Amino acid sequence: MPTGAVLKINRRPYLVTPESGIRNTQTVRERNCSVARTVAILSDAWTFLVIREAFFGARRFESFRSALRLPRATLTERLKRLTYQGIFRQVSRSPGSSRLEYRLTQAGLELYPSFMAMMQFGDRWLSGRKGPPLRLVHGLCGCECHPLLACSSCLEPVTARRVNYRNGPGAGYSAFQPQRRSRRSSDSSQYSRGRPSSVSRMLEIIGDRWSFLIIREAFLGARRFERLQNELRIASNILTDRLGHLVSTGIFERHKYQDQPDRYEYRLTEIGMDLYGALIVMMAWGDRWLSRGGPPIILTHRDCGKDFNPTVICDRCRKPIAAHDMSYRMNYHPRDFGAPDISDRAAAIGSKAKPALPRVKDGPKTKEKC
Ligand SMILES: [Zn+2]
Ligand SMILES: [Zn+2]
Repeated sequence: MPTGAVLKINRRPYLVTPESGIRNTQTVRERNCSVARTVAILSDAWTFLVIREAFFGARRFESFRSALRLPRATLTERLKRLTYQGIFRQVSRSPGSSRLEYRLTQAGLELYPSFMAMMQFGDRWLSGRKGPPLRLVHGLCGCECHPLLACSSCLEPVTARRVNYRNGPGAGYSAFQPQRRSRRSSDSSQYSRGRPSSVSRMLEIIGDRWSFLIIREAFLGARRFERLQNELRIASNILTDRLGHLVSTGIFERHKYQDQPDRYEYRLTEIGMDLYGALIVMMAWGDRWLSRGGPPIILTHRDCGKDFNPTVICDRCRKPIAAHDMSYRMNYHPRDFGAPDISDRAAAIGSKAKPALPRVKDGPKTKEKC
């Protein structure tokens, strides 16, 4: 029986653990963590793609389907699950119509900064010669912008090395929640379905939920195999596999810390350190929408000395980024990917429709102050 597998015995879930064989999942505990809760939703490639298309203005079943070419049953299941999770809500297409469409709820809309943080990472490290697939224009200032991770107290940029952690009211461990493996898309190449996207590229190299959690532990100071294994209750073959993958993609470097026998530890590279923004923005979303009993971790910005919420701001006007304020310039032709044109779609996202932003065309049209 492989470690990490979940068995059902007398209808109760049991986990096959690396150290002690089969254990009741109620006695296996994992760290309370808002990153894990958020990643549990987003690390399913198809779920992630459906949310991304919603940010690009898709609302109807057929719009999602034509952009992503997912099997009908898969798309139906993902939309149903996202509605159950409170990320979408179903509304009538028009008054009196029985036909329904899917709109992002407030919780769904607030995932936008997480997508922006992942996109910035992909733009910085994974764009290649063609450059980022999308350029962003911020409606509040009219400038092309590169969203920044900032401290909510001083609005200055935040990096991993300038943050202290302490336990919050929700800290601790709780019972292991088995993942529903069979119905998830674990093939990370699925992330690149549809249009080119820096967010997809980032998720593709990270791969899966375990990789996110390994990176999280690295930010919390874990470098060695045994500590990672203890914190995550992860099977050693899975941990070996994920560490190998994260080294090959340049997120970690191996450093020898002992001879005879040779032992190595895993340190985040510059690229790995740059995942910090995406991770803490996802954490902030999980704190707000998924944590019972308050946030598990509280962050203090060492530059200003205050506790803060990770906030994604426009690098030009320093105002927080929201989905309905953004428009896009595409660096690809949407028809090449069967994806709809989105450059006039941004304003369609919010549940309260705002007047459409002027359609942005290529060329140096930004205002002088930019
Ligand atoms: Zn600050
Ligand atoms: Zn701006």
